[in-house]
Amino acid sequence: MQNLQENDFSEQRKRMVHEQLMARDIYSEDVIKAFLSVKRELFVPESSREHAYGDFPLAIGFGQTISQPYIVALMTQAADIFKEARILEIGSGSGYQAAILAYMCAEVYSVERIEGLKELAEQNCSKAGFFAVRFKCGDGTLGWPEYAPYDIIIVTAASPHIPVELVNQLKDNGRMVIPVGGLAVQDLLLVRKKDNKTIKEKLCGCRFVPLIGEDAWED
Ligand code: SAH
Repeated sequence: MQNLQENDFSEQRKRMVHEQLMARDIYSEDVIKAFLSVKRELFVPESSREHAYGDFPLAIGFGQTISQPYIVALMTQAADIFKEARILEIGSGSGYQAAILAYMCAEVYSVERIEGLKELAEQNCSKAGFFAVRFKCGDGTLGWPEYAPYDIIIVTAASPHIPVELVNQLKDNGRMVIPVGGLAVQDLLLVRKKDNKTIKEKLCGCRFVPLIGEDAWED
């Protein structure tokens, strides 16, 4: 039974990668490899496991969601991950995005505002075999100064603007992927830092849960 179910998930995983990622605009071989390897079913609640590979976000408790696979892939591809990169993720949630990043590079730091989700993300990453990700419960709009500067920052919650501390904690020539806009809809931005200036590129429209903290939305 166990094996049958695992086979079924690995088939669903392959289909998700082909139909939802490659059939759209996900071409990075490293990203595709990561999505073929990380078991998304381990990052969704038991009760919605059969929908783990659906083309939509899923509730993970505390009013939060695990993003749709395509959006995670798009953000990861835009961030242009390299093996030696030191990456900061804001919004650990289920831990899925952190696991994808950990598959692709050496150092991943992830900040989550809700203690219960920080613990969930940590447990899910361990179950999936990613023990090296470091998690912290705190306000991610202030970054994680202890390990700064970062090559790449990925923000997985929607902000009214680009939080200042996150730009400060980004290396020169570093990149940030962040949804910026209103509470209902946002633009997914790729932000490059060059000579202490930022250059912004819009990737697409999107819908994320709010980034709540000192330098974003109020609780
Ligand atoms: N990356 C996650 C998706 C997370 S949804 C995944 O792969 O599953 C966005 C998350 O951001 C939520 O868990 C929410 O609690 C968290 N969040 C919101 N504001 C935050 C803040 N200021 N600092 C850290 N996390 C925050």
